Amino acid sequence: MFQNLFPDEIADSAYIIDYDRLYREGYRGVIYDVDNTLVPHGAPADARAKALFQHFHAIGMQAVFLSNNTEPRVRLFAETVKEQYIFLAGKPSPKGYRRAMEMMHTGTENTLFVGDQIFTDIWGARRAGIRAVLVRPIHPKEELQIMIKRKLERPVLRAYTRFHAEQERKASNAGRPLPTVLLPKNADGSYPQPYGVYDGRPGTMRNMQ
Ligand SMILES: [Mg+2]
Repeated sequence: MFQNLFPDEIADSAYIIDYDRLYREGYRGVIYDVDNTLVPHGAPADARAKALFQHFHAIGMQAVFLSNNTEPRVRLFAETVKEQYIFLAGKPSPKGYRRAMEMMHTGTENTLFVGDQIFTDIWGARRAGIRAVLVRPIHPKEELQIMIKRKLERPVLRAYTRFHAEQERKASNAGRPLPTVLLPKNADGSYPQPYGVYDGRPGTMRNMQ
């Protein structure tokens, strides 16, 4: 049950993904949701986001922002970090994901998706056949319609947790750990923060303090 909604992996943040390793593994493009995936809902790009995409430019990784939000919001973010974008994407329709791959000249084998919502971001990526990473939303306060979706996400996440634990157990028994997109942890168990921590504005949600 729910397996079409399961991400391939869950990460605390889009900023602790090991993009250099993914590049070495052959990945050439990342499709991102923007709101609450890279910055809080409605917020402009901060220094951390700028550093991440400067690094992309340095290593030759491409990105497309795929957002259901309106053009002014998505353009504001994309132009700041100098990447391409698709607005009013209609996620979970797979169309926008396919268009994003066309824009990057990549395919399902060398494209990664990163987003914070199961019923739009992850479901769409799965329908398009793209490896999908679910990240924890950056800001916990969200609009009412998203709060309702978060409640609906809970049983899916519980089912995923059970499914993933079983997969990990099988992989470990077979002596080959599950593939991961994450950076190697520091000696103290924390993740490195190669792009810094969020230092931008808190976003523009109606219900934000
Ligand atoms: Mg989002």
